[in-house]
Amino acid sequence: MKNRTVTVEYTNNRLSPATVELLIRERSRGKTLRQVGQMFGRSHERIRQLLAKYGPPQVTLLPEQRVSANLGYPTWWLFRLRKEGVINPIRSGSRWLYSEEQVRQIPALIAEARKCEQCGQPRPPGSQRLCGECRQYRKIERNRARQRANPAGEG
Ligand SMILES: [Zn+2]
Repeated sequence: MKNRTVTVEYTNNRLSPATVELLIRERSRGKTLRQVGQMFGRSHERIRQLLAKYGPPQVTLLPEQRVSANLGYPTWWLFRLRKEGVINPIRSGSRWLYSEEQVRQIPALIAEARKCEQCGQPRPPGSQRLCGECRQYRKIERNRARQRANPAGEG
């Protein structure tokens, strides 16, 4: 089978982000410059130049587990955020990889997409509308109100 050539796209005379991402992804999968070059129909030297120019210096792609550990989030948060399209890591086989830039953005993305309705603090992804603290607080308040409405010894 002949290799399908991928187009190198440019936006405003700059390599398009999609192409940059593709280059980086293929390299991170362990493809050689020559193999990536064949994919794009360019020489390995050209690919090296493009990566040097557009690729972040020594792009480190972190697996999801590492990212959640680094950020101190449970892994399912990232899984959930990914499903919801809040974060867009790079797919590599069955793994999800995050650039350092993406990792840096995650807390802000979570804060933006998932504010607690009560206090505005970031809350875990999921169906709850409140952060853990506010849920706890609300529960206590509800119990108090119940006790006030129906004090022990009455009824
Ligand atoms: Zn809250």
